[in-house]
Amino acid sequence: MIEETPALRGLVKEPRERDSGNTILSKEFKGGVMIITGANSAVGLRSMPVRYLFLDEIDGYPHDVEGEGDPVGLAEKRAATFSRRKILLVSTPTVKGVSRIEKEFEASDQRKYFVPCPFCNHMQWLQWGGIVFERDEKGSLLPESVAYKCEGCEKLIPEHHKTSMLDAGEWRPTNPEGPANIAGFHLSSLYSPIGWKGWVAIVRDFLESKKNPIALKTWVNTTLGECWEQEGDSVDDLTLYTRREDYPEVPMGVGILTAGVDVMDDRLEVTVIGWGKGEESWVIDHAIIFGDPARPQTWEELDQYLNEPLEHESGASLRIAAVAIDSGGHHTASVYSFVRPRQIRRVYAIKGVNQPGKPIVGRPSISNEAKVHLFPVGSDTCKELLYARLRISEPGPGYCHFPMSADAEYFAQLSAEKCVTKYVKGFPVRQWIKVRARNDALDCFCYALAALAILGINSKKLEALVDRLQHPREEGDESKVAQGSGRNWVMEWQ
Ligand SMILES: [Zn+2]
Repeated sequence: MIEETPALRGLVKEPRERDSGNTILSKEFKGGVMIITGANSAVGLRSMPVRYLFLDEIDGYPHDVEGEGDPVGLAEKRAATFSRRKILLVSTPTVKGVSRIEKEFEASDQRKYFVPCPFCNHMQWLQWGGIVFERDEKGSLLPESVAYKCEGCEKLIPEHHKTSMLDAGEWRPTNPEGPANIAGFHLSSLYSPIGWKGWVAIVRDFLESKKNPIALKTWVNTTLGECWEQEGDSVDDLTLYTRREDYPEVPMGVGILTAGVDVMDDRLEVTVIGWGKGEESWVIDHAIIFGDPARPQTWEELDQYLNEPLEHESGASLRIAAVAIDSGGHHTASVYSFVRPRQIRRVYAIKGVNQPGKPIVGRPSISNEAKVHLFPVGSDTCKELLYARLRISEPGPGYCHFPMSADAEYFAQLSAEKCVTKYVKGFPVRQWIKVRARNDALDCFCYALAALAILGINSKKLEALVDRLQHPREEGDESKVAQGSGRNWVMEWQ
């Protein structure tokens, strides 16, 4: 950015020069220095006084850094000694009620960018509710119908007026009670200049993403720049129960199988999930292996179960491509010793990390006694994703199918948790709590999801796997699919 901006170019020396004062995290210039640090580093946040503070993507910040408290508060203290300080907080919003930027914006004068109607000059700020569009009989969008309805004269404003409207626009506070020294600005993609993302593309994205709550959340957050209002924080087991279907052992839509194993003191529970295009999923089986995990026999039984090939509707024989086993309970050592010789077969040890915003699977560590690859799994993220998918009511991307063999207890366990907003050190945080003691089915499903994430199979690859099973090109091709691509995933992580 420095190189491409005429006003900045030349102010900071070339990084290649000796003692240039220009490193990745520090840029010296005449009259000052810019320091870049991470919101997860307490040392970085309290290192030196600063007059100008820019905090980016604050909705992604942790609530506590290394036991020293809120990173935003820590950073803001750095500016306290400057009477003419300026602090900028910027973020894409996330979930209503827990979003930091929402809270900050509400405490500001809440400026919106008002633009004039080209017909009646009425000043207004652009919002999604003003966008109008029509569709043909087949439901396809008619691009020429997309326009903005003026809230003054109600005439339809075509998008080509936007350039002149933006030129004539101005920021106006919408919160008269707001403090004079805190300016807040909100802008959505509807304002994107001509040539960037247009209204037609935005409406198309909306029509596409409204089929799927996860995609719709992203659309609301990134396109409208608004918080997502979580609809319902739990799933209903009876509704799910009525969705059971009669399907073959591994139905045609499945391209790959993964399994998740939960370890209890008297048993192992395992769920096998079949994944199709767009991560549409089929529960293939949920099994309970009774026995003390401290005894080798229990694990031998699991081994046999996991090695059993399953019959795909195409006639191919399919093996489980990856297994994730929870090592977080009382039997960590047993899990490690089971996993160790089997990592080559993609049987992995995982450990849940109960923090919001963690990825489904993080980078594995090997700093354990058994030297096995231990994958951190963002349990909250998994549950959030799974519950959003369970609320999808029509088969297609993300939808979850259940077999007739799943009983009422299975669904009770699957819906055993709900997400509530709790206050931690004064911050609202979304937390998963058990509404029922047993939640093994839910955990197993999440671990199977983590196993798929460890494989790192993207949507294109998943589609190819499904297509190859549905249309085998040559004799023996199915077995190749069944065994995956033949790459050693453990090696890759090393
Ligand atoms: Zn008008």
